[in-house]
Amino acid sequence: MNPHVLVVGAGLAGLRAAEQLRAAGHAGSIEVIGGEPHLPYNRPPLTKQALVAGPDVMTLMFPRRPSIENVRWTLGRRAVSVDLDGSTLSLDDGSTRDFDGLVIATGVRSRRLPIGEGGGPAPTLTLRTVDDALALHARLAPGARVVVIGAGFIGCEVAATVAARGGAVHVLDPLPAPLAGVLGPAVGSAVRARLEAAGVAFSLGVGVAQVLATPTGGYAVHLTDSADVITADVVVEAVGSVPETEWLAGQGLDLGNGIGCDGDLLVTRGGIPLRNVVALGDIARFPHPWFGQEIRVEHWAWPTDLARRAAASLVAGLGPTPAPDTPFTPLPSFWSDLPGGRIQSFGLPPLGLGDVRLLEGEWEGDCAVGYHRDGRLVGLALVGLASRMIDYRTALLDDLSTGTGAGADAGPTG
Ligand SMILES: Cc1cc2nc3c(=O)[nH]c(=O)nc-3n(C[C@H](O)[C@H](O)[C@H](O)COP(=O)(O)OP(=O)(O)OC[C@H]3O[C@@H](n4cnc5c(N)ncnc54)[C@H](O)[C@@H]3O)c2cc1C
Repeated sequence: MNPHVLVVGAGLAGLRAAEQLRAAGHAGSIEVIGGEPHLPYNRPPLTKQALVAGPDVMTLMFPRRPSIENVRWTLGRRAVSVDLDGSTLSLDDGSTRDFDGLVIATGVRSRRLPIGEGGGPAPTLTLRTVDDALALHARLAPGARVVVIGAGFIGCEVAATVAARGGAVHVLDPLPAPLAGVLGPAVGSAVRARLEAAGVAFSLGVGVAQVLATPTGGYAVHLTDSADVITADVVVEAVGSVPETEWLAGQGLDLGNGIGCDGDLLVTRGGIPLRNVVALGDIARFPHPWFGQEIRVEHWAWPTDLARRAAASLVAGLGPTPAPDTPFTPLPSFWSDLPGGRIQSFGLPPLGLGDVRLLEGEWEGDCAVGYHRDGRLVGLALVGLASRMIDYRTALLDDLSTGTGAGADAGPTG
């Protein structure tokens, strides 16, 4: 009897897991359970062109390969608990599922600040799903006054899109520059200048105390340490994410920041890998030999980078196939489309924010920036410079894989 695998989470990670289980030789049944009522779709356009045009889930959906034609999709149903010893999953409609193997791919949800009336959630919009994007798009009438709380990638991309549509957009953040926590203040200041040139206003170094609905159908955004109140027609909260781990509670798992896995993406309990449970995508945290620590990454390419290994580990845990025996060392990478050019990043810039060096170009223009820890290159950001991407990526890969620190001063030549 072939083992039955349940995949929980029908986003990109769930899709790639199903594909790679088949590619790894899993011949048993697969059921994917997804909390959203949609087949897996692409999220990055939701802050970009799809927010301009109005998102259409049919055009955002990922193609499904013939190899996963016989996968069962249960959509609009959330897992509410799991019994790992009994190998049973419970759903929010009261039904249960037995499994031999389990894939955890539930990603993250938007974080909410306690800035509503009485310290509850505020009457703001967030942007994680296609339905969130539809709700936001519907509110973006021409000339709408939009406040964006949070100057990370989601906040900056939404602000740029709203400004391009002719909206009056104001971004608030307690940090001194947009993206400062991810790419540092120097890159952040350059991004700020580009966004300002595109019509985005910033109030930085300020916190939001409260957002209240006004009698006229708008919103009043009260700042901390100031009597200032900003009025808006729409308020978007883009203040980070929370891993979707509640359904895994009570099982002795390591749920401190996502879910703890070993270096092969097998979920661990008490430090011991469970042979029949893997995790991947935004939710997975695992030790990465190149960075000498556990990492959890929320990038689009990551589910694809992780799926083959997760599937190989699970198939090995469920049958006679040998487990992978090489260290697993995927390279994190992301891009963001902002006015003035695409930003691309490789490695983990946040680990090297204490030592940021301009490798090529000008801070204000196209440039390559290196992020170092203990003198060693751990991350790169390219603003523009698309033609140099492969050179820089190769240099970083060489540096990380040899661990020599040779890249501390290196930009590729040529
Ligand atoms: C608006 C937006 C723009 C982005 N733009 C970029 C970009 O430009 N570049 C980049 O590199 N990355 C970008 N990303 C990040 C990238 O899209 C994510 O890293 C990627 O989608 C992660 O895939 P995932 O499958 O791990 O998680 P998700 O895509 O979040 O999928 C997880 C799924 O699990 C479901 N789920 C959660 N809990 C349960 C449960 N209990 N039971 C059943 N199902 C559950 C969720 O509803 C969700 O559908 C963006 C993300 C967003 C939201």
